[in-house]
Amino acid sequence: MEDEVAEAGSKFQFANLTQLARNFGRSLIDIIVPPKCLSCRMAVTQGSSLCISCWQNLQFLESPVCDVMGTPFAYDQGAGALSAAALADPPPWDRARAAIVFDQHSKNLIHALKYKDHHEAALMMVRMMARSGRELLAEADLIVPVPLHPTRLWKRRFNQAALLAKPLAQIAAKKYAPDVLVRNVATRQQVGLDQKARQKNVKKAFQVPQSKLSELKGRNVLLIDDVRTTGATVAACAEVLKKAGATQVNSLSFALVLEPRRFHIDV
Ligand SMILES: [Zn+2]
Repeated sequence: MEDEVAEAGSKFQFANLTQLARNFGRSLIDIIVPPKCLSCRMAVTQGSSLCISCWQNLQFLESPVCDVMGTPFAYDQGAGALSAAALADPPPWDRARAAIVFDQHSKNLIHALKYKDHHEAALMMVRMMARSGRELLAEADLIVPVPLHPTRLWKRRFNQAALLAKPLAQIAAKKYAPDVLVRNVATRQQVGLDQKARQKNVKKAFQVPQSKLSELKGRNVLLIDDVRTTGATVAACAEVLKKAGATQVNSLSFALVLEPRRFHIDV
């Protein structure tokens, strides 16, 4: 017993020392390289954060939203209310949510993560996504990042959707399943393409490996991506996942482009 207490005590001391060393290391790094706002790169007091101005500029997508598209309503129309877009052209996914509106400010965050190797941006993005997607996360059986083609993954070295999906799965205590969906066609980048071109570009781009069919059967899948633009990618993924046996496919993205036709989208 005494030995156990002594061992626990030494473990505690070691953990404290490790934490102290970490804090010291962090302070030292902050002195040498002062933390900068993830969006505008102005100096901030804490690392992995935004300055007050950038934070205030983010447009959070709060309720009420269309239950299927996740687009905002001007006033509350009751639970499960659908937008004209969802009624006129129902997408193959069930429900979609996003944390914030895609604009110059959210674009800076996505670019920091995707093109500037500021992977610490993912932490903040995940926290926002966990909030707006709490219902979808609670219902999900599998958390699946929208996959990159292996060639692009090799070039970029990481999949930004996976950087968001993995911690989201951990937060929600759900199964992270990055292998149930693969991108088997190296599509051209969606940047600069309109809705029709995007649909054509990603059609047949995704596949469920034969060995993963049993994992998907009867499951509720939550697809994770950094930005939903026209919805063409989510639609292509949802079709394939449902065909493979998933009963429900929902989508949670960090940002949502509200007017794809009007906005110059370069993500
Ligand atoms: Zn800023």
